[in-house]
Amino acid sequence: MPESTDTSARIDAGLFGEWLMQMRASLRGDGGTDVPCGECRGCCVSSYYIPVRPEDVQALARIPEQVLVTAQGQPPGHFMMTYREDGTCPMLRQGNCSIYEHRPQTCRDYDCRIFAAAGIQAGGADKPVINRRVSEWLFRYASTEDRLAHDAVLAAAAFIRDQRSAFPGGRGPTAPTGIAVLAIKAYAVFLDPNLTNANAADIVQAIIAESRRFDSGEAQ
Ligand code: SF4
Ligand code: SF4
Repeated sequence: MPESTDTSARIDAGLFGEWLMQMRASLRGDGGTDVPCGECRGCCVSSYYIPVRPEDVQALARIPEQVLVTAQGQPPGHFMMTYREDGTCPMLRQGNCSIYEHRPQTCRDYDCRIFAAAGIQAGGADKPVINRRVSEWLFRYASTEDRLAHDAVLAAAAFIRDQRSAFPGGRGPTAPTGIAVLAIKAYAVFLDPNLTNANAADIVQAIIAESRRFDSGEAQ
């Protein structure tokens, strides 16, 4: 999405460098980010199936069985919480999460700033509230390096979105979350000034290698 120059209606997303570090730690399952959601309930009204894992013991004890379905391709004990016809989560009551203290880890980990960081929307017509919030976030930069890192994340996300067919089997990520997560993992590839000379296939290989380095814990 184009970057707006009107900052009057924007919401402080925090320092980009700090957020990036926290988001990368969160993707490794090492802590989370603290989203200044305020009154926003976008996550709870956006037709999301919410993964509920066996570790979500307190949530499982409170979520009615009727709104849980078995999670496909996962071991026994993994569920997905469905949503109401209007797209709201069945645990949302009178505008608030009725199990907030015991909500699933997925809800705790969700941070819509990842889409703002990647310059993409969270989804289509079923996610207007999140998309609006995404367009409102405005990051700050403590250094030139932070600004360059953000430019690299934006470039990575744009490449992944536009060059899906260059990925093995033509199967680059298409869902916004998949694009944004891969961009956060592999943005370092786009810090390389020589990248402009590389072809799409080489860039894809570099993205895959960097993503593997991230997953193995080699890349901080
Ligand atoms: S959409 Fe973003 S700001 Fe709104 S509740 Fe979800 S994470 Fe918080
Ligand atoms: S469990 Fe609570 S926090 Fe999670 S989506 Fe439902 S209402 Fe929102």
